[in-house]
Amino acid sequence: MGIPHFLLIPYPSVGHVNPLMQLSHVLARHGCKITFLNTEFNHKRANTGGDDELDNPKEPQIKFVTLPDGLGPEDDRNDPKKVIFSLKTHMPDMLPKLIQDINALHVNNKITCIVVTINMGWALEVGHKLGIKGALLWPASATSLATCDCIPKLIHDGILDSDGNPVEKKEIQLYPNMPMMDTANFPWCGLDKTVIHHIAQEMQTVKLGEWWLCNTAYNLEPAAFSISPRFLPIGPLMATDSNKSSLCQGDTTCLDWLDHQPPQSVIYVAFGSAGVIDEKQFKELGLGLDLLNKPFLWVVNPCNNNRENTSHSDEFHGSKGRIVNWAPQKKILNHPAIACFVSHCGWNSSIEGVCGGVPFLCWPLVKDQFVNKSYICDVWKVGLRLDKDENGLVSKGEIKKKVEQLLADEGIKARSLKLKELTLNNVVEGGHSSKNLKSFISWAE
Ligand code: UDP
Repeated sequence: MGIPHFLLIPYPSVGHVNPLMQLSHVLARHGCKITFLNTEFNHKRANTGGDDELDNPKEPQIKFVTLPDGLGPEDDRNDPKKVIFSLKTHMPDMLPKLIQDINALHVNNKITCIVVTINMGWALEVGHKLGIKGALLWPASATSLATCDCIPKLIHDGILDSDGNPVEKKEIQLYPNMPMMDTANFPWCGLDKTVIHHIAQEMQTVKLGEWWLCNTAYNLEPAAFSISPRFLPIGPLMATDSNKSSLCQGDTTCLDWLDHQPPQSVIYVAFGSAGVIDEKQFKELGLGLDLLNKPFLWVVNPCNNNRENTSHSDEFHGSKGRIVNWAPQKKILNHPAIACFVSHCGWNSSIEGVCGGVPFLCWPLVKDQFVNKSYICDVWKVGLRLDKDENGLVSKGEIKKKVEQLLADEGIKARSLKLKELTLNNVVEGGHSSKNLKSFISWAE
């Protein structure tokens, strides 16, 4: 059997491109050949130079190719409905020719498997017609994958109406041993009703993928892996961020600043690539950090915040902290100066915090972040949650109280370190995820 050649096709957003890029590095380390398909728009975003600049001489097995996303320069690429529709309309006709061209260049090492992220199921259909194997990389928890896969059942059982809205707000348990979920916090709730139909349809299409690879580990979500043999935990994906291929460049000077802070002293605050808090809340958070009188590193991503949202209240001093637009998060979470992580509980941030052995202060904002918070606080018991007051605000007093409570909790600190060890054991030689990845690679040959 030859070397497997993977064609990786992410939905063009940070939360999909980055995990698939990490999978590329992991597969390349196992000797696989990778062709990574970016939209032309994202390729330019990640690369200010010539066409092949993203190809890294240290990893010659990874090559980048591009296709246009079908959108004009004035179109809003933050509108998923628009992007999904455009990709689905334009790319399926172009992909077979691209695959033909790649195969013509690699006659002895043709594409053997297509891996997509969600919303790109159409590429599995193209591959299926060409006789190429397929898989999905799910960029969130296996629990949220199970939730999306359950939509028809939830509608059938009368928990959701036909538009995907909860018939009543209540807590349910999807499968035994999973945390309780509030029906109002299903990943699609509050979104346009066409979204649920898209998700339900997409879940059918991605069944063309033999495997649903999850950046998670068996010890983190055991219940999710009893649902279907298709679910394959291969995480935590530990490849370090490649700055060259990342869609956002981190401010690495904050690492030098961290080097000068005492061990376990810095509060790291970040809400991922899309988390938005309103202006009042933003100012209150600043005041809470001031009240704590401890060093902090706060990511204020201008892409997520309205311009007025990034101005601080006059009372905010911030003298103990650093504010950056985008941080090299994985490195930060593994830095000895970090004491805790105030997080929106996006799945990647949750996994990265676990792998850093860092206690969490959970501030979920939308979608699956609420279930991730339940894992962090109630199942793994490595964090505390921030509560809102009667005005719906996480007050500065609450921030101060919970950070202090968290930092004084030796039980949480010990469990965080234990969870880190258990989780990382999955990716050492002979570990559960490591074995899964090897069987996946052999299957893809
Ligand atoms: N991230 C980063 N620097 C930042 C903020 C976030 O590198 O300043 C990365 C983080 O490491 C994670 C991703 O962005 O891999 C965010 O993904 P997550 O699933 O946590 O949240 P989302 O952006 O999907 O809401």
